[in-house]
Amino acid sequence: MPRKKTKSKTTKKKTTKRKPARKKTTKKKTPAKKKTKRKTTTKKKKKTAKKTAATKKMKTAGDIRVNKKAKTPSLLRGMKDLLPKDEEYWLKMRHEAESISNVYGYGKIETPIMEEASLFVRSIGRGTDVVDKEMYIFEDRDKTKIALRPEATASVMRSYISHGMQTLPQPVKVWYLGPMFRHDRPQAGRFRQFHQFGCESIGGHDPVIDAELIIIAYNFLKDLGINTTVHVNSIGTLDDRQNYIIELVGYLRSKRGYLCDDCKRRINKNPLRVLDCKQEQCQPVIEEAPQIIDWLSDKPKDFFMKVLEYLDELEVPYVLQSTLVRGLDYYTDTVFEFYEEDEEQKSQNALGGGGRYNGLSEQIGGQETPGCGFALGLERIVSVMKKKENKEENEEKKEVSNPIYFAQLGELARRGALKMIEELRKQGYAVKHNLAKHSLKSQLELANKFGVKYCFILGQKEIQDGTLIVRDMDSGIQEIIDQSQMMKKVADIFDKHGKNI
Ligand code: AMP
Repeated sequence: MPRKKTKSKTTKKKTTKRKPARKKTTKKKTPAKKKTKRKTTTKKKKKTAKKTAATKKMKTAGDIRVNKKAKTPSLLRGMKDLLPKDEEYWLKMRHEAESISNVYGYGKIETPIMEEASLFVRSIGRGTDVVDKEMYIFEDRDKTKIALRPEATASVMRSYISHGMQTLPQPVKVWYLGPMFRHDRPQAGRFRQFHQFGCESIGGHDPVIDAELIIIAYNFLKDLGINTTVHVNSIGTLDDRQNYIIELVGYLRSKRGYLCDDCKRRINKNPLRVLDCKQEQCQPVIEEAPQIIDWLSDKPKDFFMKVLEYLDELEVPYVLQSTLVRGLDYYTDTVFEFYEEDEEQKSQNALGGGGRYNGLSEQIGGQETPGCGFALGLERIVSVMKKKENKEENEEKKEVSNPIYFAQLGELARRGALKMIEELRKQGYAVKHNLAKHSLKSQLELANKFGVKYCFILGQKEIQDGTLIVRDMDSGIQEIIDQSQMMKKVADIFDKHGKNI
């Protein structure tokens, strides 16, 4: 090996010169073999040279080679950046989630976004889309199978068991808000990372708990300006459900020929999921299917009737939806989903859903513990909020609900502006500005883009005079005011056109 190296190193020229002579000899001996060998060597050399050059440009990040010159990595499919332009909606939802949870006595819980994969396999169940098709699973460095949480109920129950919360006064009431992950086919209202706000009440089996959870979700949406109709059903105890499933499978087998391919597969894998199918061709079969409510034993039936009575009492609009089963293994008794009022037929996407899960704790190795909860999808809620405010098309113009832009010209003015903007902020007025911009023209263009009503302009002259120009962006009329009048002027403008921070 070292000899070879020295040989090839000697000079390139030499090798090229000798080439024809060598070719002849090699042809005589073992032409094919030698030829290939030489070719490979040259190829290898070229490759190595290329590699070394490329490696120089690269830096390693763990095992991943990072080519600094490669194009910018793109956003992963189904993922979404939450941008400042939408912050007002997210702030509203976070604020509302916290305040409504406090009012109803729910404490905040934050569980990790990663859990042992078996937690979800055992609770949500094999045969469900979430586990079979959508869960992000990977092997950790110690070979543990990890999942990015596809939902939070199982994690909350795991936490309840891990922390011995059964010794606390029951029910334990918690709320959460955070990202979930499902490798779903991205489409409108369906992402691979999305956020849920949810409440869980663990350790109590009383219809009033189910009704309370429904009213919390209903009021949360209402406070955000969204009227909803609740779809409710009961799937009874695990025993009731087993009996029903036998009946359902028999029925579905007899109608197999009328079902879509997915539903044909579901008959054996997860027959309840057939009831949830949105394919046109399956609808007549679903409509005629035996109804689970007829298979409930007396206790779950009474329980469900009480839930409905509470909803009547609270004047929550609901419809009994006999095909609503929610498809996950851990549900028992009450199940429910929220749909935007009058949009139920058009929308296949519920804003949220939930139900009772009396079997969940045992499924993951805990003792028998009843529970009930809901989860609302925040991306879908933002999109309804936007639609309601008719903001979607005018987003560019209405990006800010801010009536003032603060422009400056010259170094002294920039410093003065910085101080004034800070004073305004302390008083609760956030004005738009960009102190890094030096030309007045570009600042006025920005002000126009933001659609503000007024532009405050501070230049060298104004600094000397202790004044400020107030430009009406619609008419172009400018007024000069004393700087001591600025706060009052801002207050008047905000009263008329904007909102404080
Ligand atoms: P689920 O428990 O699956 O019914 O989810 C509850 C709510 O979370 C749904 O009603 C949606 O609002 C939301 N959600 C579920 N999956 C997704 C997804 N892939 N993308 C966006 N939101 C989702």
